[in-house]
Amino acid sequence: TNTIYTGLPTTIFETMSRLAAQHGAINLGQGFPDVDGPLDIRHNASDELLNGYNQYPPMLGLPALRTAVADANKRFYDLDIDANSQVLVTSGATEALSDCLTALIEPGDEIILIEPLYDCYLPLAQRAGAVVKSVRVVPPNWTLDRDALEQAFSDNTKAVLLNNPHNPAGKVFSREELGWIADLLIKYDAYAICDEVYEHITFDGRSHIPLMTLDGMAERCLRIGSAGKTFSLTGWKVGYVTGPASLLDPVAKAHQFTTFTTPPNLQSAVAFGLSKGDNYYNALAADLQAKRDRLAKGLAAVGLDVIPCEGTYFLTTDITAVCLRIDSALDDVAFCQMMTEQAKVTAVPVSAFYVKDNQSEVPKNFIRFCFSKKDAVLDDAVKRLLKWV
Ligand code: PMP
Ligand code: GLN
Repeated sequence: TNTIYTGLPTTIFETMSRLAAQHGAINLGQGFPDVDGPLDIRHNASDELLNGYNQYPPMLGLPALRTAVADANKRFYDLDIDANSQVLVTSGATEALSDCLTALIEPGDEIILIEPLYDCYLPLAQRAGAVVKSVRVVPPNWTLDRDALEQAFSDNTKAVLLNNPHNPAGKVFSREELGWIADLLIKYDAYAICDEVYEHITFDGRSHIPLMTLDGMAERCLRIGSAGKTFSLTGWKVGYVTGPASLLDPVAKAHQFTTFTTPPNLQSAVAFGLSKGDNYYNALAADLQAKRDRLAKGLAAVGLDVIPCEGTYFLTTDITAVCLRIDSALDDVAFCQMMTEQAKVTAVPVSAFYVKDNQSEVPKNFIRFCFSKKDAVLDDAVKRLLKWV
């Protein structure tokens, strides 16, 4: 008899958002801003919807958006990208990840994932037939160990999936760390899928360095961005991939059979958005940096040990000290559940971002908060937590 594959888990974002709704909690779990991105970009999309065309746009993406993505690569990173052969528009970074894995991975190929890992990586990699090797960035400072990285590589390594800036750790990889990865990719003749959706959300004067900009990497990297993050329009699901034509072509083939296209009005509006001046991009990072500091200060007052966050809109905190006051037996999952039910504030347990087979060795004392919320919402969450502990 046939059996139904039950290997796909329920995403932690769905689980926690449902729980938050059920308990009327402030949802600092799932990562999305509670203020929509620029009005002019949204106007552009609505104008295009009413006055433009609404049929299938070109499979690779609207020429205007592909050109805007290539221009942004030049402007921000001095990368030379050919809009016609090196850019693909996708329905969100999630589709881009799926397309890249479908294109690159053949059953049995090894892929290196960095734990904690963004939740769709593991099921997508496994369904593509990859053998997953994981390397951990280690708390409290989410440090990458060079030897551990090297040990994950083998002659079967096909690719590394690198999320930088890193969700949930809030880590921005240094040039030195990227150099280790680049050396190993060359040594093992492997590729990198670079999930850089938080490329414009880095703090304290740090700048994001695409792995693709390092020597020898332009030929080996597929770089993914998302308008959802860059323009605080997560519901739009507009993503883009850049890479050498030889790699991008098979990714586009996968895209043909996944979504084929992405709504044309949204593409047009994102093209308009990408040409915004430096003020826009600087304000995005500065606003979020202020929110990071606001929430970090509040969580510290609650007694949570806040781990430095260099980029993304997530803060991780160690719950150990607060657990000693509430119930020392709580792990991160039980803590997030109890905090939702009792304090009416939701966060996400960081153990959800690990490969399920090695759960016994996974740290169970970290939770992740999203700070891309109105100041009043962040303050209210802190007030509720202060009352709870
Ligand atoms: N990668 C990371 C690291 C993310 O945090 C997210 C969350 N939005 C995505 C990919 C998915 O992006 P999109 O909504 O564009 O599919
Ligand atoms: N990227 C978001 C996060 O990390 C969630 C996106 C989703 O719900 N799939 O919270």
